[in-house]
Amino acid sequence: MLLPWLRRFALPCLVLGVMGCESGDPPLEPPDAGGAPLASRVERYDFAFDLTTGEASSRLWLDVEAGARGCVSFPARAEVMDARWGGVPPESFRMADGRLEVCGVAPVEGPLWLDSRLRVPEATVPYTQVGFSRRLDAQGRPFTYLLGWLESCDLFGPCDTAPGRLAHFTFDITHASGEVVLCPGSLSRRDETHTRCELLGTRAPTYSAFMVASHPAWERTRLVDTNAGRVDLYEPPGGLLGPAIDAGAVAEFLEWMTARFGPLPYGPELRVASGRTDWLGMEHPANIVLRDDLPGIGGVYANVTLHTLMHEVVHQWAGDRTTLASAEDYPWKEAVAEYLTYVFEDEHRGDDAAVTLAYWDRLARTASYHLRPRDTPAPPFLSFINDIYGTGPMILLVQLESLLGRPQVLAGLQTFLAEPGVRSIEDLRRALEATSGKSLQRYFDTWVDGEGEPDWPYFQVEWSQEDALTLTVTQRTVTGKVYPCEVELDLQGDAPEARRRVTVSYGLEPESATARLTVTGVDWAVRQVAVDPRNRLVNRRSLGQVREPAPQAWRL
Ligand SMILES: [Zn+2]
Repeated sequence: MLLPWLRRFALPCLVLGVMGCESGDPPLEPPDAGGAPLASRVERYDFAFDLTTGEASSRLWLDVEAGARGCVSFPARAEVMDARWGGVPPESFRMADGRLEVCGVAPVEGPLWLDSRLRVPEATVPYTQVGFSRRLDAQGRPFTYLLGWLESCDLFGPCDTAPGRLAHFTFDITHASGEVVLCPGSLSRRDETHTRCELLGTRAPTYSAFMVASHPAWERTRLVDTNAGRVDLYEPPGGLLGPAIDAGAVAEFLEWMTARFGPLPYGPELRVASGRTDWLGMEHPANIVLRDDLPGIGGVYANVTLHTLMHEVVHQWAGDRTTLASAEDYPWKEAVAEYLTYVFEDEHRGDDAAVTLAYWDRLARTASYHLRPRDTPAPPFLSFINDIYGTGPMILLVQLESLLGRPQVLAGLQTFLAEPGVRSIEDLRRALEATSGKSLQRYFDTWVDGEGEPDWPYFQVEWSQEDALTLTVTQRTVTGKVYPCEVELDLQGDAPEARRRVTVSYGLEPESATARLTVTGVDWAVRQVAVDPRNRLVNRRSLGQVREPAPQAWRL
């Protein structure tokens, strides 16, 4: 049962992204056989789920042409049963090619709804926690997680799996007495065994909205209570996250985000839960799930717990409220979450930002794919998304910060995220162009698009010192590509104080692989030049072909 999921998951996502899952495309249409296709759009998912048995029932509220006769069809698992059309048995229904097709006559007035039931197995997509799982924490208590993801909401019932679809949701969760249950939207505990969540204001995408998480020993602690929002931590007693989270910094960050991007999109309450997860963190509307052992993970960010929490907070706007036009656009959502976290670190957290840049730079140098790979066949999707956590923020934002200025990049992101809806990497380019007044076409063509392993530049520096210091910088690439960029150089002499940082710019439209710079006022002999000392540029550190091993930790 799992293998087909993986095959579908791993291979065709990008193809789907390229071939027509963008929200601008016509809504889903059923296959030819079985009746006239009836165009439909899911306005709302009502999802009832029993955490103990895995029994799910779902109701899809559809926008269809009033009074029309025909069939609607949605991706669904073969085990879906009891399909009903507007509360009654449909004229016909069938499962074919991984889709549920249901036929009838749409009501003349009011919406059409489609009901069905499914028992969701305790199983996950290989190499991920996507699906329905229970994992024991360090004390042997179960963390239960129903986790959706890009193009996978049909694991839980009939669902429009295209990434660029935003909808409303309600969740009615039946659970064991005493279990603490979280789900997206405003949450109310009906009684000891029932929890309901309503997400009926700002719409959300299916990749993050299909979420139910529970733990029998979660206790709620308020971390932040300000005008910017209320943040509650759900963690069992003795958990590692609470002591590691600087609540003052979270409050400051929430203030910083809301000042630039408006109020929290899903209401002032934000729940942060500790769980036994693979990913460092995951963004759900009004909920964030963090891996319960985050504070012990080394070798990534200076403060991995705070960084991950801030990253997931950014996703409330970038990913949840404003989402991906297609699966291919995945890099922008991670780039924006990482970049805004970094800017805050740079402004408020001392040296944390330098560690973040160093980590990204290392990830980027070992990337196997371009941000918009043109490979045929497309790279396996899981490998691709795992690959973009360095190149995404570096290429889409940090390098442009060097070329355009941070205020221009932040203004571009404010435009990009101003409205709910779907956005592509192209939309990001246009937003940055609009705020900077510069064409970024060549920059994106060179840095973002490509086939095969990236051919990042190596910068060779030569210098001569007579009346003034003359630096000659040459980009070396296998293919002869010349990258628009700005390169920082640290000039070093014999004495410790003999140091000078200079910048050589190729600009956005370089005409040559060689750039020169004359530096005055250096009255000591330059012995060494360090390229990109602050890790702000994706570049090779040697001309050789030896590749660094990819770092282990990653996050979605
Ligand atoms: Zn993320």
